[in-house]
Amino acid sequence: MNQALETKVAQTSAEAHAGHGGAPARLRVNEALAHTKLSPYWLDDPAQPPAERELVGATQADLLIVGGGFTGLWAAVQAKELMPQLDVVVIEANRVAHGASGRAGGIISTSVMHGLPNAVRVFPNDIDQLEQFGQRNLDGFEATLKRYGIDADIEWNGEMTVAVDPDHLAHLRADCDLHRSHGHDVVLLGEQATREQLNSPLFAGALWSRNRSGIVHPAKLAWGLKRAALSLGVRLYEHTPLVSVKDEGDTVFVSTPKGSVRAPRVLFGSGTAKVGIRDINRRVMQVRDHVLATEPLTEAQLARIGWKNRQGIYDTRTQLNYFRLTKKNNIIFGGLVSYHFDGDSNPPQDEKRETYYRLAQAFYKTFPQLSDVRFSHAWGGPIDYCSRGSVFARRYLGGKGVFVAGYTGFGVAASRFGAFMGLNILFDRDSPERGLDIANQSPIYIPPEPFRWIGAKITFHAFDGADAQGGWKRAWINGLKSMGFPM
Ligand SMILES: Cc1cc2nc3c(=O)[nH]c(=O)nc-3n(C[C@H](O)[C@H](O)[C@H](O)COP(=O)(O)OP(=O)(O)OC[C@H]3O[C@@H](n4cnc5c(N)ncnc54)[C@H](O)[C@@H]3O)c2cc1C
Repeated sequence: MNQALETKVAQTSAEAHAGHGGAPARLRVNEALAHTKLSPYWLDDPAQPPAERELVGATQADLLIVGGGFTGLWAAVQAKELMPQLDVVVIEANRVAHGASGRAGGIISTSVMHGLPNAVRVFPNDIDQLEQFGQRNLDGFEATLKRYGIDADIEWNGEMTVAVDPDHLAHLRADCDLHRSHGHDVVLLGEQATREQLNSPLFAGALWSRNRSGIVHPAKLAWGLKRAALSLGVRLYEHTPLVSVKDEGDTVFVSTPKGSVRAPRVLFGSGTAKVGIRDINRRVMQVRDHVLATEPLTEAQLARIGWKNRQGIYDTRTQLNYFRLTKKNNIIFGGLVSYHFDGDSNPPQDEKRETYYRLAQAFYKTFPQLSDVRFSHAWGGPIDYCSRGSVFARRYLGGKGVFVAGYTGFGVAASRFGAFMGLNILFDRDSPERGLDIANQSPIYIPPEPFRWIGAKITFHAFDGADAQGGWKRAWINGLKSMGFPM
């Protein structure tokens, strides 16, 4: 057993426990993970609907959607609402929500651009319109959930960025000014005020954005969208992967293990999977991110950390952690990225308990008062990383296909907008975003293998010490940023 794994979790400060009846028992990281299920917390739920049947035989459709995650499901629902006469087929390789959508932290962001600072970085001239798209996207998001009675445990308590180092406060102040200048409801909190919101000895301050952001049960959202799509007459086939795709001139022919679909239009909501179009995987690469769920906190454990306003939280580390509560008061704690050669979508490391030790150590460092808490679930999931750091929609197959992805870890709400933009391009529909760069430009190429693997390894190694040590690690990360890659 690795010596480091035997190390006791971070020391609990006496201050953190004052008034709460003494320090709780301290678990070792390997004890806390001993009975952890290596599968997503969200999918381990009796609310999961039964799978739809696999496609057997040949069929045709007006629109074929590949992928049953948020992008594919939002595309299906919006296509039927905008063009009710369309015959829409969705094929999903596994089960609905078994990709990134059922593995997300579930923090909802208003922005369709991975946040306002990224929007300023990528499309500085279109900020006002991009902000409006974000607002309208959430209007439509909320209205859809209401219309179809989708209960996805949403709590609109905002998102909060916590500084884990006093040196990061200047950055938060700049972000605060930027958000205020665009009319956002944000508050900057000092150390004491931050710890009153959520108590961690690491927090030096925070920026709390209360602009229609919050948290959602991502799998319940996907299952609700699935139900809505079926109610609109969408034909959904689960356990039906695209095996090959062929441009036939006026139509596209897609084969699956036991059948086929012929359609004049195809929307690819397949994330970083390989679907037979090489250009896609030159522009997006799959990074794995990892997440832990604690067992539900008791009232006493909750009292040790506060968190009455239950915001979605990100910290300011270069290798950031994000965390939130579930309806049952489990803490979802994510943020440990890795890269596997050629974007392996099923890396064996995800199935190993050791993979999650460092994340568990980060959890206990953040919340030493919870050193008696165990982890119920641990899992990995695919991030569709691209240079834009946010969604793009690009035509393929002579314009008969559109690929939509690139959320770079921020797609829970933005996927509705991405699907909408993709449909508008595919059906040549008039819409305000189509006149802007967001709909007409694509992310730059990411170097191919083996350079991709080497670059990712160096980058993730640099993440580990960039904040504390700086040096070549900080210089490497800054170099990538200056080449246009979001970090
Ligand atoms: C660990 C993690 C945490 C995250 N946390 C957040 C968060 O807190 N907030 C946020 O906004 N975003 C978050 N995200 C990002 C968000 O989950 C994604 O942006 C979003 O789910 C993308 O949806 P999608 O439908 O494009 O992709 P996916 O959900 O991956 O769906 C793609 C689907 O296509 C299917 N597919 C693949 N190949 C084929 C094929 N050949 N044939 C048929 N189907 C195929 C897959 O099985 C999959 O179901 C997180 C992501 C991860 C991995």
